[in-house]
Amino acid sequence: MEGKTIIEPARKLPVTREADVVVCGGGPSGFVAAIAAARNGATTLLLEHYGFLGGMATAGLVGPISKFNFGGKRIVSGIPEEFIGRMAERGGAIIDLPSGNVPYDPEVYKYTALRMAEEAGMDILFHTHVVGCLADSQRPGSLTHVLIENKSGRQAVAAKHFIDCTGTGDVVSRTQLPWEMRNRREGELQPMSLYFRVGGVDTTAFNLLMAEDGVKYADAGLKALLAEEVEAGRLSNFGGPWAVHGSTLRDGELSINATRFRGNAADGDDVSTAERLLREDVMRMVKVFKEKVPAMRDAYLIDTATQVGIRETRGIIGCYTMTLDDMVHPKAFEDTVAYGGHPVDIHRASDSKQDVNFLRAPYPIPYRAIVPQGAGNVLVAGGCVSATREAFASIRVQAQCMALGQAAGTAAAMCAEQQLTVTELDGKSVRNALREQGAVV
Ligand SMILES: Cc1cc2nc3c(=O)[nH]c(=O)nc-3n(C[C@H](O)[C@H](O)[C@H](O)COP(=O)(O)OP(=O)(O)OC[C@H]3O[C@@H](n4cnc5c(N)ncnc54)[C@H](O)[C@@H]3O)c2cc1C
Repeated sequence: MEGKTIIEPARKLPVTREADVVVCGGGPSGFVAAIAAARNGATTLLLEHYGFLGGMATAGLVGPISKFNFGGKRIVSGIPEEFIGRMAERGGAIIDLPSGNVPYDPEVYKYTALRMAEEAGMDILFHTHVVGCLADSQRPGSLTHVLIENKSGRQAVAAKHFIDCTGTGDVVSRTQLPWEMRNRREGELQPMSLYFRVGGVDTTAFNLLMAEDGVKYADAGLKALLAEEVEAGRLSNFGGPWAVHGSTLRDGELSINATRFRGNAADGDDVSTAERLLREDVMRMVKVFKEKVPAMRDAYLIDTATQVGIRETRGIIGCYTMTLDDMVHPKAFEDTVAYGGHPVDIHRASDSKQDVNFLRAPYPIPYRAIVPQGAGNVLVAGGCVSATREAFASIRVQAQCMALGQAAGTAAAMCAEQQLTVTELDGKSVRNALREQGAVV
């Protein structure tokens, strides 16, 4: 069918909603961005593909949430810290590990995120996919609407400002604003991984190293077993494995990050193939662990993630692009809006290795890194941040996505109120506003 095309007839769409700020995607960056926008006085609409919030944390079972601390000190505060604190109050998160990694319960995550979003006073439209956008012919770099699809059909949603928190740049990539695939210059994309959780494990006997320091957490015994499976041709690839208290924190349970698929998660065919093949790998891994690991003899599969985990796809070309040098030699920015500190952590797609570079200090991230070059009313947060592939390999973790979400939501609300474009808005004023909100900036 290659090369075959048809012309879709133009049609009139109902404009079903209007808001000051529309946030596309309700993952770690998106739900925090929407809360920040609403708390800063903007009428806010959050559009989410699933029927719950949390993105990779809930739909992907990706955990623990990294990285709230560096050297034992908090580097992310504000709304993200409030969120994990509220999960902990419900017994749904462990928030005092020195590493600043936060194991959590995905159901408590979904509930707490929704409660906080509703308390902030916003409109949320679940089971809604953002499928396109309309450029503003009067204002370069701006949009008038995003186009959505849900059970009611195709509709348009109007806003003063839009934030792309889809993790895969679904909005920005449909505009004239600049973006790129993260592997454009430096090779393959990081692999997709389908998380799964097992119960019935003797977690006391099993060495839960993640709880200690978040560094030496791959269990050598499991790695050797999976390497044998690859050698014997029964498994094509794996990573880690990281079998930890990540997206579970109950005794007897582990969340496991071990499957690996090489492909482009912004390609419909590749992501579909990943789901098909990795489910097979999960079953094989559980079988091997049960047969060969005494502490997992009685283990059973609790669940697999709702969707395969996506590490990297598209990023914007922003007014500032974070580089490895910004992490190795942290710079002081006047418009710092978040701090990172996770290792530069590149998972290889073609084998089971990982290239990890530990950092010596936390590094600032400027407002300009979430502003696409030439943008009028479009910001991003989370997975779409402007960063080289190596820099993204550190920034990509959830606490940093949430911190950037708070920055984007705050900035969008300020732009809506002051009638400014996102490039006209002074990043220093975003920093000051975040400081008043208790963020570490
Ligand atoms: C295998 C793996 C392991 C990882 N390990 C860790 C870890 O240990 N610790 C850590 O902190 N981070 C980890 N990460 C990274 C982290 O999970 C992500 O970087 C983070 O979730 C990105 O947040 P986000 O909000 O940008 O996007 P996402 O979490 O991807 O959320 C995007 C949201 O937008 C929605 N959406 C997408 N497209 C559309 C659309 N077109 N219309 C409507 N809604 C849409 C999705 O349903 C989703 O809810 C890992 C990631 C992977 C894949």
